[in-house]
Amino acid sequence: MKRRKERIVVKVGTSTLTNELGNSNLRTFESLALALADMHNKGNDVILVSSGAIAVGAQKMHLEERPKELRMKQAAAAVGQCENMFLYDKFFGYYNKTVAQILLNADDIKVEEKKENLANTFEALLEQEIIPIVNENDSVSYTEIESEEKLFGDNDMLSAVVAVLCKADKLIILSDIDGFYDKDPRLFKDATLIKRIDCIDESTYTLAGGAGSRRGTGGMRTKLQAADIATRQGVDVIITNGKDPSILDEIVAGQERGTLFVGRA
Ligand code: ADP
Repeated sequence: MKRRKERIVVKVGTSTLTNELGNSNLRTFESLALALADMHNKGNDVILVSSGAIAVGAQKMHLEERPKELRMKQAAAAVGQCENMFLYDKFFGYYNKTVAQILLNADDIKVEEKKENLANTFEALLEQEIIPIVNENDSVSYTEIESEEKLFGDNDMLSAVVAVLCKADKLIILSDIDGFYDKDPRLFKDATLIKRIDCIDESTYTLAGGAGSRRGTGGMRTKLQAADIATRQGVDVIITNGKDPSILDEIVAGQERGTLFVGRA
């Protein structure tokens, strides 16, 4: 099987892809496509895990606020997913890249046969130099959008599961914050960025607050859980700020950005 230089999974959250009104952040879509196309041109396999469908769908359906009812959330996800893929297709198309949509739910990864098929699909797409764009299948599954535990936590966990399934070298989680701090920087002015974590344990979890921003739903806790799962399988995880996606070029060039959770192979 042909494998290129590095296999990199990038996860981008709702708070990066949408603005305060819930509209798509077009500039971010555009610069994300440019940064990922460049990463691909440098010989890397690239997989994008993207959220934001419900927020974008709600806006497109002219709903006054983010829907609370399950059926409306699932309807908004169906509308927003279409819009997001349209934007990705268009912006990646500028850079001559082909994208593919993969929608998953938890069962697809739990059942061995489905898991194997899925891994084969990723391999086939990557072999064809296509950039898979993954999201949870919110219109069918409701684990993510309804469960108290938020199984995939705004796709943070999904990105880790995908990184492990595809045997990625790196998982880069783009957030609305510069990385993992010793306490929530939105609450504590004196919070300091932790540049490297070699082992995630209970004490690391106590540093992460509750759920995150209004539009994002994961918070730092689900990002830590994701980092925990991926690093245990040898994947390096970087949490960094996605406001300017060109930070991805710097990371691929080997520069230290955000927080590195070292993969333990
Ligand atoms: P995204 O939507 O980008 O995935 P979230 O809003 O879900 O991001 O999660 C990031 C938020 O987590 C930050 O804006 C911050 O307020 C909060 N947070 C809590 N604890 C920490 C911490 N120790 N370090 C960094 N951010 C933290």
